[in-house]
Amino acid sequence: MRVKPVGVSWSLLKSTKIAASLCVLVLVMFSLSSRAEIVEPQLQGQWKQGALIYGHLPAGHRVTFLDRTVPVSAAGHFVLGLGRDFPKQASLVVENGSGESRVFHYPVEQRQYRIQKVNGVPARTVTPDPGHLARIRAEAKQAREARKQITPRQNFRQSFVWPLTGPITGVYGSQRYYNGEPRRPHFGVDVAAPTGTRVTAPAGGVVTLAHKDMFFSGGTLIVDHGHGLSSSFIHLSKLLVEVGQEINQGDVIAEVGATGRATGPHLDWRMNWFDQRVDPQLLVPPMPKKTDKNQALK
Ligand SMILES: [Zn+2]
Repeated sequence: MRVKPVGVSWSLLKSTKIAASLCVLVLVMFSLSSRAEIVEPQLQGQWKQGALIYGHLPAGHRVTFLDRTVPVSAAGHFVLGLGRDFPKQASLVVENGSGESRVFHYPVEQRQYRIQKVNGVPARTVTPDPGHLARIRAEAKQAREARKQITPRQNFRQSFVWPLTGPITGVYGSQRYYNGEPRRPHFGVDVAAPTGTRVTAPAGGVVTLAHKDMFFSGGTLIVDHGHGLSSSFIHLSKLLVEVGQEINQGDVIAEVGATGRATGPHLDWRMNWFDQRVDPQLLVPPMPKKTDKNQALK
């Protein structure tokens, strides 16, 4: 009679131990399995300021980047853009269909930008007359609105090509001094070419803005490539497409000019992923050699 209770308590203790360790095991397995459901997206591209990162995820997942819900196609494709001054670390939040989420961190390469002095610019565009401020603000808003659009187009996944060839006279990110005055950095890539040179679409898209003469950018076109990625072409002398028009890669869309704040005829091609300004030069092959140097503007 005395042995039994002891035996019972031993087996109780034993089973409690087993139950406890089973519990731990189940917990571990559960947390492992719920983690495994949130897969790391397949990513392509270099985490670097000014770059685009292309991603793919199984259906039903959501991606948040820079507090923005990233558009993901039905097939799971998405794109992210890293601005000029993007910090050293990027975080990507991935959420599965059950609302569980996981954060992935990536180190971001920090770039050194050039300093560029631009002289001989019309004084009115360097220090605008206060009377022009309303116009400048209205135009900036128009451009922002055009770039805010989220369309499901998949042109962002195309291989981009140069919209024209010629000597590169300005690069992404450089800090600019206009007539000696420090101003906002340059976000586009400048390609010098005579006024009237044809500008072709670097990828397909839809025209979201066509303005003949903006204060700073002169003749301006914005083309949406889908998922928040857009191209802007500025200082144009002639626009050959209209808002709402669908264009294919290689279509002639405009002619080079020197309108707005420009010292001479060139194309300034800029790219945005929403409000993040990205570097178009990272998307295209090197500029064909024969057009380099010698012909440089100025
Ligand atoms: Zn430029």
